This record gives sequence, C-alpha cells and structure tokens, in this order.
Amino acid sequence: MSRVLIVGAGLTGSVCACLLRRELQNKVHIVVWDKARGAGGRMSTTRPPDSSSHAADLGAQYITATAAYAQSHHSFYSELLSSGVLQPLRGLIEGLKQNNDCTNYVTPLGMSSVVKHFLSQSGADLFYERHVTGLFRRGASWEVQRKAGESETFDAVVLTMPVPQILQLQGDLGPLLSVQQKQQLDAVAYSSRFAVALFFSPDVVFSFPWAARYVTDSSCIRYITVDSRKRNADDPGRGPSLVVHTSVPFGLEHLERDKEEVQPIILQELHKLLPSLPQPISVRCQKWRYSQVLTSVPDCPGSMTVLEQPLLVCGGDAFSHSNFDGCVESALSMLSVLKASLTP
Ligand code: FAD
Repeated sequence: MSRVLIVGAGLTGSVCACLLRRELQNKVHIVVWDKARGAGGRMSTTRPPDSSSHAADLGAQYITATAAYAQSHHSFYSELLSSGVLQPLRGLIEGLKQNNDCTNYVTPLGMSSVVKHFLSQSGADLFYERHVTGLFRRGASWEVQRKAGESETFDAVVLTMPVPQILQLQGDLGPLLSVQQKQQLDAVAYSSRFAVALFFSPDVVFSFPWAARYVTDSSCIRYITVDSRKRNADDPGRGPSLVVHTSVPFGLEHLERDKEEVQPIILQELHKLLPSLPQPISVRCQKWRYSQVLTSVPDCPGSMTVLEQPLLVCGGDAFSHSNFDGCVESALSMLSVLKASLTP
C-alpha cells in the first residue's frame, strides 16, 4: 500500500484526500498534515471565546456556482446539498454583482464544514500543528521534515499550500523545478486583506436589512456581513457575529504591520459606516497575506508535477482559480496524476 502525504487541510487537500480514497480504496494510506490547529485553511470558521455568540467565517464567504460548473461539478454540489453542508443563499447581499447564470450557496455551520465534510469522507490520518519545512529525496521515497518532531517518509507527496509557501520549502524541491516551472511559480501573485470578526451578546439585534453588503465608499472596508444571517443560521439564543473584510489596497498598504496595530484602524472605519454598532464581547483579527489569487499559473493546469518518481505534485487555487470550483478542479487534476503514478 502506498503512503501518500497531503500537505494542507484546506479545500484542495480535503477534496484530493476524499477523491483518492474513493478512487483507490485500499491501495493508498492517506496522511494529511497541516500547520494550523484545525481544518479549513482559507475556508476557516472561527469560534468566539465563549459560546454565547455565533461563529464567524473569516475567509471565504459563500460559494458561487456558474452554470458551467454547476453542471461539471454537479456531483460535488449535490453531495454537499443533500448532506446539509450547503444551502442556497437566502439573505440579501447588497451590491453583489454577478452574472444571472450563477447560484450562490452558504454553509449553515460555517465554511470549514465543507472542508471537514471531505476530510471525514477521506479516511485519512489527520495531523494538525505539523508544519512541513523540507522535502528530501531518499531513493523511491520522500523524507518530509517538519518544524518540530521526527521526519517521516512517504511514497508520494501532494503540496496544496499557497505557492510562496511551497517555494520556501528546503531540500530537493527547488533544484528539481525546471526553469519554466520556477518562472511560472515565481509569477503567481495573491491579493492581501485583513478580516475582523466581532462577536456580540444575545441581546443585540441589527436593524439593517442585509445579510452582507459590499462597501464602495470606504478605502479601508470592502465587505461587511452579519455572518450568522448570511449562513441562514440565526439562533436567537446566541449573539450575532459581524465580519469585515478590508479592501485589497488597504491590505497591501498595511501588509507588514502587526494585525494588533491594524485592527483599531478597521474598527474606527467600521464605526463610521455603522455608527450605532454596540460594543462587541470580543474581536478577532486575521491577516490574509495570501488571500485570493491575482495571477495564477498560466493556462490553469490544476496541478504541477515536480517529480514523477517518487511523485511530488503541487496544487491549490494558484493552479486554477480562487474559489470552490477552482479547488475542486485542482484536486481532480492531482487525482489523475496520483492515479497514473500509484496504479501499475
Ligand atoms: P488553503 O486554504 O490556503 O490551504 C492550504 C493549507 O496549507 C492551510 O490550511 C495551511 O495552514 C496549510 N499550510 C501552509 N503551509 C504549510 C506547511 N508548510 N506545512 C503544513 N501545512 C501548511 N472562495 C470562494 O469560493 N468564495 C468566497 O467567497 C471566497 N472569499 C474569500 C475571502 C477571503 C478573505 C479569502 C482569504 C479567500 C476567499 N476565497 C473565496 C478563496 C478560497 O478561500 C480559496 O480559494 C480556498 O480556500 C483555497 O484552498 P486551498 O486548499 O487551495 O488553500
């Protein structure tokens, strides 16, 4: 049985693990490592410090299926809808601009529930707080080094983290990249943003009619959502959560500052936009250095094979596009590479 390591418990890694289990059944032993404390990656859902408020999605907000993807990824959508992980978006999103052929979905339990769904189907051994630092070729295997703890060897390695984090890995990955592959990876670019979640007590009720709003008259804030309302998950026993995303220019301007320094600037701007906002019980700020892909790998191939034997393949939204369907495309591409490599 081949031992496959998937680095990253975000959407791409989780869908890849799930598809690999379904397609190769007992031929693979799948292991997933992530440096974070839980699953989700940029589809993360943050719990408040106490359970009196709703959770909040700090990264991805909702899933938009174009007519073409609704058809080609129909099995993924119907699986998530029938298991209750996805629901059609019902709340009002002010300022949303998209084509008429799109359908929007939300996740009542938060965006990380999509990732957790696929991980739960994968039968993979999941390990959090495992930060991969280097990859070393050892004959027919890869020795994978991590920040703390012993290295381990695997027959194949799948990397799904943002490209700059792939390029930081020590060992044999860099020297194995062709000149063209290196150029393509170096050219990948991401936007950066800050996200702030505000958690309120159960007696707080917002009077505005929207579930989310795109802001056009602020250089700092681009998007505000009453997260629980957006997710069709309002529970009157819990206080609402509000999530704010900054604009991309603001994210870029303050990228090298600590989030603790930037949070008060965002909150001050929020109070200008929503002057009657009550005091939250707690606030959480997140800096997304790698938010959404601005320049992907040319022609969006879904994946890039660095070495065929032992297999080392890279994927993630940089190899397709920054949304649910982009990650699914990448996972499908890596699946076909893995199948070709692992089945005689
Ligand atoms: P990631 O989610 O980044 O997963 C990579 C994982 O690798 C992470 O969990 C990370 O912890 C881990 N990792 C990194 N380095 C290491 C290492 N050295 N060792 C071990 N683990 C490591 N998409 C939508 O569809 N709809 C939206 O509304 C939407 N809005 C967005 C808003 C924001 C603010 C952001 C940030 C993203 C948004 N996106 C949206 C994009 C979407 O979130 C991403 O395209 C998607 O989550 C990428 O998934 P991934 O698995 O490719 O990468």
